[in-house]
Amino acid sequence: MKFELSTFKSMALLGLAVVVASCAPETSSQTEVVDGAEHPYKIVCTVGMITDVVRNVAGDYAEVEGLIGEGVDPHLYKPTRSDVVKLSGADLVFYNGLLLEGKMTDVLVRVASTGKPVKAVTEAILEATDYLMEKDDGSEHTDPHVWMDVSGWSKAVPVIAQTLAAYDSANAETYHANAKAYAAKLEALDAYAKKAMATIPENQRVLVTAHDAFNYLGRAYGVEVRGIQGISTESEAGVRDLEDLVDFIVNKEIPAVFVETSVADKNVRALVEGAKARKHAVIIGGELFSDAMGQAGTYEGTYIGMIDHNVTTITNALGGHAEGFEKH
Ligand SMILES: [Zn+2]
Repeated sequence: MKFELSTFKSMALLGLAVVVASCAPETSSQTEVVDGAEHPYKIVCTVGMITDVVRNVAGDYAEVEGLIGEGVDPHLYKPTRSDVVKLSGADLVFYNGLLLEGKMTDVLVRVASTGKPVKAVTEAILEATDYLMEKDDGSEHTDPHVWMDVSGWSKAVPVIAQTLAAYDSANAETYHANAKAYAAKLEALDAYAKKAMATIPENQRVLVTAHDAFNYLGRAYGVEVRGIQGISTESEAGVRDLEDLVDFIVNKEIPAVFVETSVADKNVRALVEGAKARKHAVIIGGELFSDAMGQAGTYEGTYIGMIDHNVTTITNALGGHAEGFEKH
C-alpha cells in the first residue's frame, strides 16, 4: 500500500512535471495575448524615427523597442534571429512601409498572419491623396522617406495613437492627449524648418546627398534635391550619374554637398574630387541623418533632434542662417 502510494505520488509528480513542461509555451503565449490590460505591454518598431514617435505617444504604458539602430541602412537591413523573436513576442508592431524595410517584408507578413496588430505608419499618409511622391525613374515605386517632411510625418502620430487606443482602450484618452502634445511640437519644428531654409540664398537652394532620401524635405521647404543613388541604396550609382552631378554642381556653383550617416560616403567624396578637377571647390557641408537617427540617448537620437540637425546643418552650409530649433 505504502509502495503503491509512493508510486502514485511519484507518478503524479512526474505527470505534473510533464503537464507543466508541455503547457509552458502555451501559458507564456497566452499571457502575451492579454487584451492590453497588462502594463507595460510590448511594442516593437523597425526604424528609430518610428520608435521615437511611438515612445512619445505610449508614455509609460508600453515598453517600446526599435530594431534598426543608428547608422544602419533600413533598405539593406536583414532581420536577425533575435529580431524575429522580438517581433513574435511583441503585442504590437509598427513599421514604415512603402518598401523601406524591403528585406523585412516576409517576417512582417508572417507576424501579421498571427492576428496581432502590425501597422504601417505611412497608412494614413497613403490615404491623403497627392501627398506621396513617386520616384521619377519609372519604377512606380513610392518614395518611402516621408519623415523628411515634418508635416507629413506628423500624419503618422494620430495613426499610432488610434492603434494604441484600440489595443488598450482604458488609456485611450492618454494616448490621444500625448499625440496632440507631440504633434504641437512637430508643428513648431515644421515652422522652424520653413523659416530656416528660406534664409538660404535662392540660387543656392540645392541639396546634393548620397542617396535620394530628401525629396519630401525638398518639396516641403523649397530646396531642389539631387541624390547620387536612387530611392533605395540597393542600386549602385553609375559613373555617368556621378559625372552628370559634377556638371550640375560646377554649373550651378553649389558650395556644399552632404554625406549621410547610414550610407557610405565614397560617392559624395568622388563628387568633391570631380568638381575640384573642374576648378570648382565644393565642401562636404556636414553629415545628415537620412534613414537612421543619431546615437540613442542624445538629442540627435530623437526624431526632433534629427530633423533639427539636418535643417540647421543644410541651412548654414548653403549660405543661410539657422541657430537650431532647440535654441529657437
Ligand atoms: Zn533611404
